[in-house]
Amino acid sequence: MNYTDTEKMAYLLEKAGLQQALSMSTADLIILNTCSVRQRAEDKVLGLSRAVRKIKEARPDVHVVLTGCMSQRIRRECNDFATDQNHYRWVQETMPWVDSVIGIGDYSQLTTCASSEKIPTQAYLDVPQKYSSRISAYVPISQGCDNFCTYCVVPFSRGKEVHRPAVDIRRQVETLVGADCKLITLLGQNVTSWKGRVENREASFPALLRYITAVNGKYWLTYLTAHPKDVTMKLLDVLVDCGDKVCSYINLPMQSGSPAVLARMNRGYTVDEYVRKVEMLRAAVPDMRVSTDIIVGFPGETEEEFEETYNLMQDIQFSMAYVAEYSSRKGAASSLLEDSVPVKVKKERKMRIENLQRSIIEKKNAQSVGSHADVLVKTSNSGVTHDLREVRFEKDVSESIGNIVQSLVVGSSASGLLCRTPV
Ligand code: SF4
Repeated sequence: MNYTDTEKMAYLLEKAGLQQALSMSTADLIILNTCSVRQRAEDKVLGLSRAVRKIKEARPDVHVVLTGCMSQRIRRECNDFATDQNHYRWVQETMPWVDSVIGIGDYSQLTTCASSEKIPTQAYLDVPQKYSSRISAYVPISQGCDNFCTYCVVPFSRGKEVHRPAVDIRRQVETLVGADCKLITLLGQNVTSWKGRVENREASFPALLRYITAVNGKYWLTYLTAHPKDVTMKLLDVLVDCGDKVCSYINLPMQSGSPAVLARMNRGYTVDEYVRKVEMLRAAVPDMRVSTDIIVGFPGETEEEFEETYNLMQDIQFSMAYVAEYSSRKGAASSLLEDSVPVKVKKERKMRIENLQRSIIEKKNAQSVGSHADVLVKTSNSGVTHDLREVRFEKDVSESIGNIVQSLVVGSSASGLLCRTPV
């Protein structure tokens, strides 16, 4: 979501007459679009401190803006919202190089920072984007989350779920396809929880997917991030019916394979239910790549509970896993629990899962060697398959950038496939 937030701000600032600088050191306006889902993301922003301070010392007129989840969190934690005084005091003490703090989607405030003509106030989901690529694009379809997993601050930083009208989504997809964009990602914190009206009827995500993939053209559609509770027979029917238009890939966060930890996380499904959803997906679309997100070291996670996750991952054989060490986030319900798993143990658990996952991916990718794959060429030597595996080409393929080409898989590794084209 942060990526599209940046594209939306870039669009508005360009409309207001500003041009993108080539580097931070030559910019008059620096916008730090932050994430606070993990402590590491916040640490990165604080790590920029020295570079930004240097720029401010050399050119005091440079205006530095902090926005994104971190700014939202800071605002929430400050007591005096009426005057914002506490909030600015905190920022001044921690990040004295920041001039303004803007909430997510509060883009009308960019006007003063940009010292330019007025930037119109529009609902977040209505703000257009300045696309960073002509080949692939993100299309936000919803914003916020109503699930309240105990470790997560998104429901507080992004607010309640809001869904974009289907006609607006389809119009954006039509425009992108018309401009020859080949890979479109529907985006939302819980993309599969979308609700709205499609052709005058109450509808949910499967109907939206059917409605959008009715757009003619040669393109691939994918969606991020799915919630296990939304994997229903209706969704599977649509995935089967849409055929090649929808990528054979789904990111389905499991977070833990321990029933007790899952319950403490308030994820809203049991381990058995999760496993059944993966089985349903693989039965419906046999070449479906299922990736997952895992948190290790959740408060109170015992060695046995961690082993449950590890063993389940061995059984499920995910195609990819994004593993994070638990970090307590102020405001999230789990911050009231003791962060009891030592950092060293969290790191070891993360490494064990990553090692396991690497060997699974290596094996899976090796099975593709010798087969043919359609690859969307993104650069002179790289691309992506229909099931969203990274591809490197043996030779320069500059003339095919933006096209989907048939390729022969000639090699593999844990990071992707090596391909040859023409075959
Ligand atoms: S589903 Fe849970 S983890 Fe995902 S955004 Fe919502 S609260 Fe956060």
